Amino acid sequence: TPAVEFRGVSVHFGATQALSPLDLSVAKGETLALLGPSGSGKSTALKALAGFVRPSAGRVLLDGEDVTDLPPHRRGLGVVVQSYALFPHLRVDGNVAFGLKARGLPRAEVAKRVAEVLELVGMGAFARRFPRELSGGQQQRVALARALAIKPGVLLLDEPLSALDAALREEMIAELLRLRAELPDTTMIHVTHDQAEALALADRIGVLRDSRLVELGPCEQLYRRP
Ligand code: ADP
Ligand code: ADP
Repeated sequence: TPAVEFRGVSVHFGATQALSPLDLSVAKGETLALLGPSGSGKSTALKALAGFVRPSAGRVLLDGEDVTDLPPHRRGLGVVVQSYALFPHLRVDGNVAFGLKARGLPRAEVAKRVAEVLELVGMGAFARRFPRELSGGQQQRVALARALAIKPGVLLLDEPLSALDAALREEMIAELLRLRAELPDTTMIHVTHDQAEALALADRIGVLRDSRLVELGPCEQLYRRP
């Protein structure tokens, strides 16, 4: 059973076809990059999977279960977006704890998981800081920790590196590769417009153009490595 399956998923916004019928499976533990220019439908595919937008047609499955009609918080996915989207009035630990508290986990368990996952992304020493006291790269690590705190089977990354400068991007790529190694069962779908980023991080790449998946294959097959 694939960890993620799109079955004929299409999305319209009014007259705009944001996603043409998409059929795509992602295996457990696999990292898939969705690569394409701005406006090609990458984010829309991710949001349909996350439940932030409703497909006009088709079904979305997680571990074989049809989740198309479930609200986002019932899908058990981790989501990281470009803009960090940390709560500015909460400290780092509060940000990471947010989803866990919302799920009603006991306090002791929340505290333990927050500490673990901040350690995992190298932010253990920053638990009591506010987001504004952190660099962009550090904020993105916290966003990653928050997404991982619920131990998601599937992690969705929507241009997580785009807001970072070149040096921090390199650092985050290394960080994501390390996470992949430490969380081999976690399936990742990574949206990017940057071919180098896709090649560095993914097992397979799906290329979108004009709302359509036009190519899909292992990195080596689609692009010769530099
Ligand atoms: P990408 O992530 O590849 O940049 P998107 O999935 O964000 O592309 O967008 C695909 C298309 O759908 C674009 O034409 C975009 O303008 C349109 N679109 C995306 N979100 C909305 C929305 N909420 N309302 C209307 N049009 C949208
Ligand atoms: P972009 O793809 O343009 O960078 P974002 O990925 O930041 O935009 O997300 C913007 C849209 O995604 C919002 O309009 C919002 O409806 C939806 N969204 C993002 N996160 C959540 C969330 N946690 N819950 C519900 N909707 C969300």
